[in-house]
Amino acid sequence: MSLTDFRGELFRPGDPGYPAAREIFNTRTAGATPALIARAKDAADVLTLVRHAAERGSPLAVRAGGHGVDGTAMPDGALVADLTGLTRIEVDPATGRATLGAGVLLGQMDAALVEHGLVVPSGTVSSTGIAGLTLGGGIGYQMRRYGATVDSLLSAEVITADGRVVTASPTEHPDLFWALRGGGGNFGVVTELTFEAHPVPREVAAGFIPFPLDQAPGVLAGLRDRLAGLPRELAVVGALTACPPLPPVPPELHGAPVLMLVVVYSGAANRTDGVVGALAGLGRPAAVAVAPVPWPAANRMLDVIAPPGRRYYSKGGYLATLDDEVIDIVVRHTAAAPPPASPPLPSTVQNLWAMGGAISDDHAEDATAFSREGTRWLWETVTEWDDPADDATFTGWLDGVRADLKPHLRSNGYVNLTTDDGPGWRRGVWGSPAKYARLVTAKTEWDPHNMFRHNKNITPQP
Ligand SMILES: Cc1cc2nc3c(=O)[nH]c(=O)nc-3n(C[C@H](O)[C@H](O)[C@H](O)COP(=O)(O)OP(=O)(O)OC[C@H]3O[C@@H](n4cnc5c(N)ncnc54)[C@H](O)[C@@H]3O)c2cc1C
Repeated sequence: MSLTDFRGELFRPGDPGYPAAREIFNTRTAGATPALIARAKDAADVLTLVRHAAERGSPLAVRAGGHGVDGTAMPDGALVADLTGLTRIEVDPATGRATLGAGVLLGQMDAALVEHGLVVPSGTVSSTGIAGLTLGGGIGYQMRRYGATVDSLLSAEVITADGRVVTASPTEHPDLFWALRGGGGNFGVVTELTFEAHPVPREVAAGFIPFPLDQAPGVLAGLRDRLAGLPRELAVVGALTACPPLPPVPPELHGAPVLMLVVVYSGAANRTDGVVGALAGLGRPAAVAVAPVPWPAANRMLDVIAPPGRRYYSKGGYLATLDDEVIDIVVRHTAAAPPPASPPLPSTVQNLWAMGGAISDDHAEDATAFSREGTRWLWETVTEWDDPADDATFTGWLDGVRADLKPHLRSNGYVNLTTDDGPGWRRGVWGSPAKYARLVTAKTEWDPHNMFRHNKNITPQP
């Protein structure tokens, strides 16, 4: 199969469009030189590419939203299937089903769904791709109410390594469907995803409650102790970071380290004051900047602190509980964090995501490859800067936080919100040894020659 059948655009090094086609979110991982970036027009083009790679025994990298934390969308010397042109969005309000092309970004999905009062639970930065996010699991502001993104996935169209187009669903190739829901891009190229969407108010209460850092231990402990009683419609993330210059915050706190509760409440409007008041009452906040906003705006309020084109490094892991020692470690490292490289953008954000609710309690661990067992909190820390000369400062700081937290982190985790930690880590991140064995079986069945190896890779059996 030659690429003469390919109807999309092809970019090789030296072509005028190549530098733009090669761009991905994180410049720290964006220096590689893929051999050929093939921007598909449709699924037929992706099929052509897969068959082309298969005939040559060549690996195939996949680029959807380009947000992957390891930069595996654009590896050196690779043939890249660029899915950014697959932007079809179809919403059926009668059935509540949404079918999305693999190039759709979260902001585009939210905008199309909210027209119908619907949401697919996903992530918190609007330029992230729905494809890569879903294949890893998908967590965000609706997870306590509706579960992870994978919990709403009904089916996927997949181009397999042996050049077939298949549907994976509970009734068609259920082993593949199970593995896709968390196992990443290991099993084929997903060209289309169909979800069950859920009701969401057009307007939700969203914003920030910042506390000076000396109050952080008490506020986090209070949040931990009350989490079980908080409504599922409430999403709350404890973000330890430099305080942005928000108008209601006193100027002396701008740029100082704070605990910022990031809040989205999508329950009944008449309960908002009570819910927000309970969070504010955990300490003496510098401000309470939570207000009614359209749901898509709430789901992109963090865009401003995560612009594309910076150098990013991130680590994450699951915590069974937010014990006092964990709180002490994150607060201590926040106080010692390198100062922002380009204020007012922060350079370090330690997020403590409150889980519980639907994502933790409504879905069995073995129902999906995505693992959630035994976790009530997700720790995720992102560092961002611009100058390569600062790499060691920021990666070194984060590696130090991770080293101190390691005894507290569970062996299972969420693959999408952390850089790859190697084969030993991968054997545990999806949960039990039996789950990993099931993933290896699926990999061996669907991609025996490891065509799809530019990812958090599961090695097929020889
Ligand atoms: C700023 C930022 C904010 C984020 N916020 C959240 C969040 O709130 N919640 C959350 O859950 N995650 C979040 N993430 C993590 C995000 O889910 C992952 O980085 C995800 O991989 C991004 O998908 P993508 O399609 O944009 O990335 P890409 O870089 O295009 O893809 C990453 C990898 O996924 C695989 N892949 C992607 N699409 C396909 C496909 N169609 N078929 C087969 N394999 C494929 C490939 O191996 C590819 O290398 C965030 C990441 C960033 C950078």
